Amino acid sequence: MATGVEASRLSLNTATVREQWSLAQCIDGCARHGIGGISPWRDKLQEMGATNAAKAIRDAGIGVSGLCRGGWYTEEGAITQAVIDDNRRAVDEAAEIGAACLVMVVGGLPRGSRDINHAHALVEEGLAKTLEHARTVNVPIAIEPLHPMYAGDRACVNTTGHALDMCDRLGDGIGVALDVYHIWWDPEISAQIERTGKKRLLAFHVCDWLVPTRDLLTDRGMMGDGVIDIAGLRAQVEKQGFDGYIEVEIFSQENWWKRDPDEVLATMIERGAVI
Ligand code: ZN
Repeated sequence: MATGVEASRLSLNTATVREQWSLAQCIDGCARHGIGGISPWRDKLQEMGATNAAKAIRDAGIGVSGLCRGGWYTEEGAITQAVIDDNRRAVDEAAEIGAACLVMVVGGLPRGSRDINHAHALVEEGLAKTLEHARTVNVPIAIEPLHPMYAGDRACVNTTGHALDMCDRLGDGIGVALDVYHIWWDPEISAQIERTGKKRLLAFHVCDWLVPTRDLLTDRGMMGDGVIDIAGLRAQVEKQGFDGYIEVEIFSQENWWKRDPDEVLATMIERGAVI
């Protein structure tokens, strides 16, 4: 276990080269480098068109480890029809490209609110509504717990334990996307990975935590450049039977977004060998 990841088992989350490449270029890049999977963001998918993208991905023989992202349930302070409809579209897009899951960034506090419990309730209500549709088209919903520093503005579900409590209540068709950037610090993570189990382990995202971190959103590191025990976490998810793609998702304004994307992909592969 944890003896390195072949390129064919890596997946490129398109955020990693979002400043440089369109989705079509990402698909070509994966094919050229032998990267087996891709995980598009919705803006890039919509730009290309889901039908075109689905065909190009199929033709390239690449798997789809996820679609990023649905969610944002809290922004209006209520579960509005617009929020429900947008998530329904996200589910349909995920189905069209054959994504292994739809990744959910659930939303932070509603504007002007200090009521975190209300935000949690909105998220659960919204997920339940999205699930009704997702189950009919067999798209698994993956809650991505985010690091607590994003509770105010991005996601108020911040631990794997909290995400799994919601999954327990919501039933079939929902699990978690575990991103090492968001979970590595959690003293309960080993127990929670065991609790997750294979069926609810829908995605595994990697990058690294840089010390110091210069920006809360856009200063993620390439695997091996920071302090996360990525190989250790990978061994734990694989012990549960996870055999999906190892998805590389790096937001890096000052470094990787400025580089030649072919160099970024080559580095991903090189570092994949040591995680
Ligand atoms: Zn992620």
